[in-house]
Amino acid sequence: MPAPWAEPEYNPSSKELLDRIVEVIGDASISSKDVQIKNVSKWVINEVVAERYHDGEDVFCLGDAVHRHPPVNGLGSNTCIQDAYNLAWKIALVEQGKAQRSLLDSYTTERQPVGQTVISRANQGLRDHDPIWDAIGRKEPTLEGRQAAWAELSEGSERGAARRERLRKAVDWTAHALMAVGVEMNQRYDSRAIYLADEEGPRPELPEDPILHYQISTYPGQRLPHAWINTRNPGKQLSTQDLAGKGRFCLIMGHGGERWREALKRVGEELGVRTVSWTVGWGLDYEDVYGDWTRRREVRDAGCVLLRPDRFVAWRAMDMVEDCEGKLRTVFRHMLGLDNPPPREDGHL
Ligand SMILES: Cc1cc2nc3c(=O)[nH]c(=O)nc-3n(C[C@H](O)[C@H](O)[C@H](O)COP(=O)(O)OP(=O)(O)OC[C@H]3O[C@@H](n4cnc5c(N)ncnc54)[C@H](O)[C@@H]3O)c2cc1C
Repeated sequence: MPAPWAEPEYNPSSKELLDRIVEVIGDASISSKDVQIKNVSKWVINEVVAERYHDGEDVFCLGDAVHRHPPVNGLGSNTCIQDAYNLAWKIALVEQGKAQRSLLDSYTTERQPVGQTVISRANQGLRDHDPIWDAIGRKEPTLEGRQAAWAELSEGSERGAARRERLRKAVDWTAHALMAVGVEMNQRYDSRAIYLADEEGPRPELPEDPILHYQISTYPGQRLPHAWINTRNPGKQLSTQDLAGKGRFCLIMGHGGERWREALKRVGEELGVRTVSWTVGWGLDYEDVYGDWTRRREVRDAGCVLLRPDRFVAWRAMDMVEDCEGKLRTVFRHMLGLDNPPPREDGHL
């Protein structure tokens, strides 16, 4: 039988709440003179994700409407905002007639697996607190049992040391909820809105603990790696993240990569999409002040990394290619669904 508080119509009275508070604190002397219930806000723990975020036509769902989970790991609002960030530029390009509707299909393909990961992690994060409650005796059924377990934590005995060790390990494990950079950053997209055809090797493996650690890479479908950059006459410190976004496709290259810039401009104008390009390196648009970009970019100086407006890597070239304009055109037309477009009846592309 489910616990009463799991029922939507469960509306505890102030007396019932006070009884529960007394039970939790374990002090029967507490009365309504000491505790006043001012407000009750009900909240139900969920572990649900929609199978599809898009009905294939004009309905797109995002945010808590498609993924619901407890606040552990703090993955709620940011996942909702990421959904919107993923979808907005795609809708804009399709509405402007610059991309096929197939671009919109990538929304579910890319974001639903993220939702699945997030609801699982947040709920696991909640379950991971169980060993803490256990170690401090919170799960003992009687007040005496809880007090005895709590007292054990102060004991200079083998028993006390063992309980403290259990507690320490349980607290350490909560790093998977409190310092979990990996679960936020290891989002990897694989869809038609990513161009993988030029990749010679497989996607880099995830770190041994992908919840805690982030695999930095410019492999298409990954997040743009952060690196601090600056101007030659030091100005405001920037991140590579600041170069991208703002509704534009962004190309980053180094020495010998300048031809990409002209090519991008021409292809962008031809397809009517907004683009921007930056060179990063010694004496270029931006200085790679700590060398982090060079360490993280995984392409050679004359190669380039193309970012979508949502700052995910769309494609990269390991080095300069002979027909860089043709290459960029192929990549963009693939992403926007313009190669072999299916016929539309409404006169759009
Ligand atoms: C206790 C708690 C703690 C949290 N802590 C964190 C945290 O630390 N970090 C974090 O990132 N996230 C946290 N979250 C999660 C975060 O608050 C949610 O993921 C986020 O607010 C969901 O945003 P949303 O826009 O998708 O939905 P909502 O914020 O629920 O917005 C939906 C809106 O639609 C309105 N609405 C509903 N039906 C209709 C209708 N028929 N017509 C018109 N309007 C309607 C609602 O009134 C509401 O304003 C927490 C959540 C809870 C409950």
